[in-house]
Amino acid sequence: MIIAAAGRGERLGARENKAFVPLSGQPLVWYALEVARACPEVTQIILAVAPEDVERARALLRPSPTRSELVVSGGVARQDSVAAALAEVNSECDLVAVHDAARPFVTPGLLQQCLAEAAREGAAVAAVRSTDTVKQAGPDRLVAATLDRTTIWLVQTPQVFRRRLLQRAYETAVKEGVTGTDDAMLVERLGHAIRLVESDRSNIKITWPEDVWQSEQVLRSSKGMKQMRMNSRTGIGYDAHRFTEDRPLVLGGVRIRDQRGLLGHSDADVLCHAITDALLGAIAAGDIGAHFPDTDPRYAGADSLALLAEAAALLRQAGWVVANVDAVVIAEEPRLAPYLPAITRALAQAIGIDTTYISVKGKTTEGMGFTGRGEGIAAQAVAAVQRIPRARTRAQS
Ligand code: MG
Repeated sequence: MIIAAAGRGERLGARENKAFVPLSGQPLVWYALEVARACPEVTQIILAVAPEDVERARALLRPSPTRSELVVSGGVARQDSVAAALAEVNSECDLVAVHDAARPFVTPGLLQQCLAEAAREGAAVAAVRSTDTVKQAGPDRLVAATLDRTTIWLVQTPQVFRRRLLQRAYETAVKEGVTGTDDAMLVERLGHAIRLVESDRSNIKITWPEDVWQSEQVLRSSKGMKQMRMNSRTGIGYDAHRFTEDRPLVLGGVRIRDQRGLLGHSDADVLCHAITDALLGAIAAGDIGAHFPDTDPRYAGADSLALLAEAAALLRQAGWVVANVDAVVIAEEPRLAPYLPAITRALAQAIGIDTTYISVKGKTTEGMGFTGRGEGIAAQAVAAVQRIPRARTRAQS
């Protein structure tokens, strides 16, 4: 893969050549380099840079046993730079991908798609459909024609060609003194078909100062997403208890009237138990039995809502807050709908979050299984938790 990185980028108005303009702490060219490295198909990377950048470009190289990496000193025009790089391409390489360092948001997927199409057809380039209407105009700025938008594609890089085809296109261009604005143009002149690979608009070309600023925002938000993933976790909980006579039924801390209760060491609040397990599970802190053993007389007849509150407190001490809880109570009866608002309020208070982050649903199993036969009640719950942001210290910033 050739990365064209010798452009001056006058429109960017930066002190550096474009490929070395910093973007979120890395030189622009670094992003395309990393994408090339992420594709096992890429066995050679050639960076074509301006003569004054050769040294610092070499500092970016990270060859591996399966991939060589080198720097060539480019020419004044882009075409000269690619020609210089093309002269260094391994003769074992069947395909050559050319990519502009100014497109940092290229993805391994797009590069691989272009490689696959070029392997079949000899030439494939990334492109997007035009959403703007395109007009032709003369120097007088009077519209001469409106082009049919459905036929207009805006071409990007990567552009991938069979090595021999691209070399022949360059030789012909030099011979005929032709300059193309992209590599495909030189191959087109040979009469070879070029396949368009549909890309998307995120693969922008950094051209103007505001492009750098916008790209910084994009990178920051994707970094933010990664951070969020690291800082959020999920837990699951399940519980079941058998019906018994002479005990009140308690679900989510709410006493359900005129209903048989459940057998258990505590108050047998199956819903609270499932949610407690979900909370503990989210931070991999064991289960309810480990924290509140049913062999401990302290928990005989215990208020399970209080145990849930204790588990939530434990979570906070470990540096987590509950983001939301979703639960299902599986029972043939009672009908839970009238009790759900009270249950949600009780759970929210115990966990210490707003009721809007708690969801409880009742379900029957249509007569099937132990719940269907009315032998008992089961409950399932999931909980998402989030790490409490710590105050930023100098060392972290
Ligand atoms: Mg239980």
